[in-house]
Amino acid sequence: CGIVGYVGSQDSVDVVLEGLRRLEYRGYDSAGVAVLADGQLSTAKKAGKLANLEKELAEQGLPASTIGIGHTRWATHGGPTDRNAHPHMSADRTVAVIHNGIIENFASLRAECEATGIEFSSDTDTEVAAHLLAAVYREVPAGPDRLAEAMRRVSRRLEGAFTLVASHVEEPDRLVASRRNSPLVVGVGDGEYFFGSDVAAFIGHTRRALDVEEDQVVLLDRERGVLVTHFDGTVVEPTTRTVDWDAAA
Ligand code: GLU
Repeated sequence: CGIVGYVGSQDSVDVVLEGLRRLEYRGYDSAGVAVLADGQLSTAKKAGKLANLEKELAEQGLPASTIGIGHTRWATHGGPTDRNAHPHMSADRTVAVIHNGIIENFASLRAECEATGIEFSSDTDTEVAAHLLAAVYREVPAGPDRLAEAMRRVSRRLEGAFTLVASHVEEPDRLVASRRNSPLVVGVGDGEYFFGSDVAAFIGHTRRALDVEEDQVVLLDRERGVLVTHFDGTVVEPTTRTVDWDAAA
């Protein structure tokens, strides 16, 4: 339902929670965050209001990090439980994914993953995306475009509606996102970048926004900034706009 992603120099949990609060008006049944620190992904997720997640974070805490993702869920597949809340991780814990929408062909993809010995830890349609991304990433040659190429390959296999945002343990300076039939906006700050399901996710930090078109993958890279490609790999020239504060409020 609500999506936030952040790469920059601020504490990512603070930025992501603030974004999730601004997206609360959309309604949701659970919430979660994942951060990447010291080559490890850590998540916290809770059914119910954001206050439940905030309490969990206050009790257990997450490592300090400047790259993170957060989600408020409106359950479509799998009940509104802690376990089904996003982010979802791959079995090898290399990938964390958040998702808005419905992956229509998840059942066959799930069967395919299970046939390779992967055990699922939720009842969601989303979790297949985490396992697939982890597996496909291993097949893509190393390089600065690896995460985006893995996401393009996975996205081409998914049917339905999705905004996906993912973090990978081997990519401490990058976040990737993909979209089809579901909204995604990029916020461009000064040395910091945001993903949002709408501009409310980052309006507290920047008013420079980039609208992501249908069937595109976006890589946020601390050094290189925003890189947009079509699912087929064609490079797209990004154009930003300035968000009218009143319209966003
Ligand atoms: N279909 C996914 C789920 O049920 C995502 C729902 C959403 O858009 O929040 O977990």
